[in-house]
Amino acid sequence: MANNCIFCGNPAGSREHIWPKWILERKNFGPFRLKRAGAPDLILNTELTTKAVCHGCNTGWMSKLEAALKPILEPMFEGKSVSLDIYQQQLIALWMVKMAFVWDSTKGRNTDNAFFRNADGIALVQRIMPPFTAVWLGHIGRDYRSADGHDITLDEPPKRVGGGNVVTIVNEQFVAQIVSLRPDQMPTGPTAIQLDFPPGNWNNTLIRVWPQDNANPIEWPPPAALTILDYLLLRDRWRTGDETDHIIHL
Ligand SMILES: [Zn+2]
Repeated sequence: MANNCIFCGNPAGSREHIWPKWILERKNFGPFRLKRAGAPDLILNTELTTKAVCHGCNTGWMSKLEAALKPILEPMFEGKSVSLDIYQQQLIALWMVKMAFVWDSTKGRNTDNAFFRNADGIALVQRIMPPFTAVWLGHIGRDYRSADGHDITLDEPPKRVGGGNVVTIVNEQFVAQIVSLRPDQMPTGPTAIQLDFPPGNWNNTLIRVWPQDNANPIEWPPPAALTILDYLLLRDRWRTGDETDHIIHL
């Protein structure tokens, strides 16, 4: 069956790396370990790719986005202090949506449990963020590479009221987390969704780049670095409701 591009809906044929090639080429962390819910771990010598993107997207807006991000992210990977203006904050947020989309597509061809919809993809091509999405950045004291994606359910006991998708990545000293939520009933007016997550030192270890409260630049890294334990807590802090699918990739 033909596979359609997760972004624009055209026939897909381009293989897309979970991690952009320019990031993999910066530093080799050895084989990848892939862990999926209910399945034994797989050790991969090559990086996981997904055939879910069309040639036009891959060589067009996606390649432009990577090129724009490279000079912003590289110093952060190395742990150097940077000041991010609102344009750069938004670019990082858009890039994390792209990462989350690609993760979502690893659930398989024409899966019926994909979180992101074509409308989200078409908006992203226009550099429009999906609704109910937040992106945080952090700093970890030494170099790691890991990516984790899982879905969550939004519950108002006794019933489910929506779903969400969480992707957390670390590359070298840069940590980022994106959370996207989708209520089953889309609200018609402005709405805030409150989600509970375990308490932590998040005010000192994370800075939010999306949504944006004001037009001020933000300083990265945040005041405190994350430890590996903090990172694991961060990765799992939205885990509520039933575990639907969960992939860890180191
Ligand atoms: Zn496309």
